[in-house]
Amino acid sequence: MKPSGSRNSVPAALRHYQVPPYASKLTRRHRDFARADEAYANHLRAQTAYPARVDALIAGRTWFEGRECATCGGTRRRVYNVGCYDCQQLGRGFQTDAKGRCVALPPAKLSRDGWLSRNDERRREMAGEYIEYRSGEWSARQYPTGRLSVRCLGHHIDNADFRTVPGSRIFQLCEQHPDLLTLLRRAGWSI
Ligand SMILES: [Zn+2]
Repeated sequence: MKPSGSRNSVPAALRHYQVPPYASKLTRRHRDFARADEAYANHLRAQTAYPARVDALIAGRTWFEGRECATCGGTRRRVYNVGCYDCQQLGRGFQTDAKGRCVALPPAKLSRDGWLSRNDERRREMAGEYIEYRSGEWSARQYPTGRLSVRCLGHHIDNADFRTVPGSRIFQLCEQHPDLLTLLRRAGWSI
């Protein structure tokens, strides 16, 4: 038996909808159904503390006037999840003006030159470019992005990116396998 007040069942009249009208997140599928069916829109209004949220959803807006935010004092709330619209926008790094035009972009993570050279490295790697090193049973491929794949089938080692191996593990392996130490030094590692 379900606890009283439980909403975890769909009224028979609404079972044909693919998204239940009591979801905590409102998506464009909710919007499409609410525009087509007033009963569905009323069920959406009944399940939210903010009828304005459903009005905004139907109108195609992404925010509505809701409760004041404890952090920034703004009253705009996001239709999707009732989060503070302004705090979420700041977190994303870009801001819009009253007409929804972008007025500030998120800070760049890379300089333009850095971005171009990273693209170039990735493209060369996709094209199959690499330098191969060998030492005994061990072989390594140095890729343009800096990735070093190391392989030694005799010892069941086939690592796609040796940079991700912890330093202590690398020292341990190098002590056991002098060929690996030689190989890494040939690839330019200072060990
Ligand atoms: Zn806020």
